[in-house]
Amino acid sequence: MVKVAKITSKSAIFSIFEQRLKEMKNKSLGAAMLKGCCPRCREGKLFPTSMLSYRKLSDVHSNCPVCNATLVPEPDFFYGAMYISYAFSVALVVNVLIILNYLFDDPDVWVYVATVLMANLLLLPAFLRYSKVLYLYGLGKLSYNPNWDQK
Ligand SMILES: [Zn+2]
Repeated sequence: MVKVAKITSKSAIFSIFEQRLKEMKNKSLGAAMLKGCCPRCREGKLFPTSMLSYRKLSDVHSNCPVCNATLVPEPDFFYGAMYISYAFSVALVVNVLIILNYLFDDPDVWVYVATVLMANLLLLPAFLRYSKVLYLYGLGKLSYNPNWDQK
């Protein structure tokens, strides 16, 4: 009798522990977006290659490698991400102009042009990827479900 009670209390503790572990596994929206993770499980990577690889930079997995959610709902789904990427570029140009104007006391025009080009080239991978991440999170119709495997 005593033994049975002990076992059930142990399993109760264990289930609480299991619950805590599951909660810890829950990822925040910001972290998942920064890491380029699937909107549904927030574990699987959206992109097959690293951002620094420059190879297949804009490729997206068609299905999440972890939860198998459809990441490309229709052909050419990510064309709209182009507008977000464009907005990133405009924001970059405006910021570079303001920073150069204030910190470097309005340098020659070629300095502006060269800086904008260099910054754009350097940030191109991030712009390409995060525009897709934002687009998928905004319009992808996939919502976060930490218990995706239980249905
Ligand atoms: Zn997933």
